[in-house]
Amino acid sequence: MGKNVLILLLCAFAWVACEAPAVEEDQTNETTTEMEQAEYAIVIHGGAGTITRADLTEEQDSAYRAALNAALDIGEGILKEGGTAIDAVEQTIHYLEDSPLFNAGKGAVFTNEGRNEMDASIMMGVDRMAGAVGGVSNVKHPISAARAVMEKSPHVLLTGKGAEQFSADNGLEIVDPSYFYTQRRWDALQRAKAREEDKGEAQVELDHDDRKKGTVGCVALDKEGNIVAGTSTGGMTNKRWNRLGDSPIIGAGTFADNATCGVSCTGHGEYFIRWAVAYDVGARMAYKGLDLETAAREVVHEELVKAGGEGGLIALDRYGNVSMPFNSEGMYRGYAKPGERVVAIYQE
Ligand code: ASP
Repeated sequence: MGKNVLILLLCAFAWVACEAPAVEEDQTNETTTEMEQAEYAIVIHGGAGTITRADLTEEQDSAYRAALNAALDIGEGILKEGGTAIDAVEQTIHYLEDSPLFNAGKGAVFTNEGRNEMDASIMMGVDRMAGAVGGVSNVKHPISAARAVMEKSPHVLLTGKGAEQFSADNGLEIVDPSYFYTQRRWDALQRAKAREEDKGEAQVELDHDDRKKGTVGCVALDKEGNIVAGTSTGGMTNKRWNRLGDSPIIGAGTFADNATCGVSCTGHGEYFIRWAVAYDVGARMAYKGLDLETAAREVVHEELVKAGGEGGLIALDRYGNVSMPFNSEGMYRGYAKPGERVVAIYQE
């Protein structure tokens, strides 16, 4: 009798031992099949702010949509062909930096001293390598300088003259600072200064161009499953004292980790720095087990709103899910994945 019980117990144990891994495997399969896996995905922003339908003429509206579509075409083309997320992010942001429509590269806003000081950063989700530059005035594509810092220096963030020297030494395209002059941004600075005089106190304008913002960002997921995030900006109109915003700060304006998500932010940088916004989205996924959309919405619509920080972000996870929340009136934005393309400006 005792022997039979023992045999029975042994059989039961053997059965459990054999079956247990199978059950575990099934559960894993279930969670992965529940999430639809996109082969690749790319999401971009061209800045958040007070952008309403009434603010843009029909021509401006279609110019922005065309530029966002053209930028997505570049990134999607690279990813579709099996290119890397880092190339997709860099090339997509190049296009946006070359466009005078956005506050990055060519279209960068002016500082109080009438200069253009640009910031950019980039981060790889696979190993958390990152690079950034702050306050550069003669580098045509600041996002490439950020990439060079990541790939060719032992550092993460270089600023000012040193960052410019490093960029030149590493063969990046250097231009005369006058390349960044655009009438529209110059006029915006004059209006900001006039408002400052009116109010009789220093006004660091949050609005780049009469309340339209134009920082650019891109997050991509390639066919290898790697996530890369990048951000590039001219900062804020009428900024002083070599002010840096969140855009060159890893964890604030840009963050990527293959285990959770990639994020690029736009908005009032001082809040995004103090609330570690880009990192916070990933942290909520990692520590609270939230999905991307819930994590991103909590940060933008709860934390930032409570704090009074205006702006938004773009994010994607390793499945290619995309989130683009903003608490301002509008955000130039769009995404592409196989068989899907969205470009939007207002709350629509
Ligand atoms: N976040 C940028 C900054 O504070 C500005 C923006 O995104 O519009 O410099």
